[in-house]
Amino acid sequence: MPTSEERREELKAVYAQARTCTRCPELARTRTQVVFGAGNADADLMFVGEAPGAREDERGIPFVGAAGKLLDELLAEVGLARGDVFIANVLKCRPPGNRDPLPAEIDNCQEYLMRQVELIEPRVICTLGNFATKLLRAEPTGISRLHGQAEIRVIGTRAVRLYPLFHPAAALYTRSLQDTLRADFARLPELLALALPEQPERAEPAVPEPELASEPPDAEPRARQLGLF
Ligand code: URA
Repeated sequence: MPTSEERREELKAVYAQARTCTRCPELARTRTQVVFGAGNADADLMFVGEAPGAREDERGIPFVGAAGKLLDELLAEVGLARGDVFIANVLKCRPPGNRDPLPAEIDNCQEYLMRQVELIEPRVICTLGNFATKLLRAEPTGISRLHGQAEIRVIGTRAVRLYPLFHPAAALYTRSLQDTLRADFARLPELLALALPEQPERAEPAVPEPELASEPPDAEPRARQLGLF
């Protein structure tokens, strides 16, 4: 079993690979930077949103706009801060004009998310909104039917409690959705206290992953800013 230090180092290597990714030519051309994710690289709780917006693209950090402010408030209400959790997105690059992620883009990017889950080893993953929920459940059922219902799912190599939530950006403008999101959030401490789901047999070790590119020299300070240290 890799240590948390080994997993963090490997996560930094995945970040180094992602930050120069050109799998989606349009996104690679139009982004300011890749928004890999940020927070505690050994978090029990992970959030997966949709894709960076303009503010996130500028700053390189997920959920820094109005939706991020609501996310911070909701975290504080259950006694958590950003440094306790890891926040990522389905897409690591901003879709131009904030359009929806395209199926090919989701496909291209999902390896990064799967590696993040594998290396961070969360117990609970909150999917925020439809894109993350549909991707991680590999089913088309929408968030309105699923929110607030935790289920054990294997994501890549990791069995977790998957807990779909409304996207904070949707909740910003609809009071009833915000009340629902808040009530669903309130159940997080209870979910985090549950036993870790039984893990699937590992076919091969998570670390090292041979095909990863080597880290460019300036990746280390940026990784530190994102909390991956
Ligand atoms: N919305 C998202 O889904 N992700 C972000 O990082 C910001 C807004």
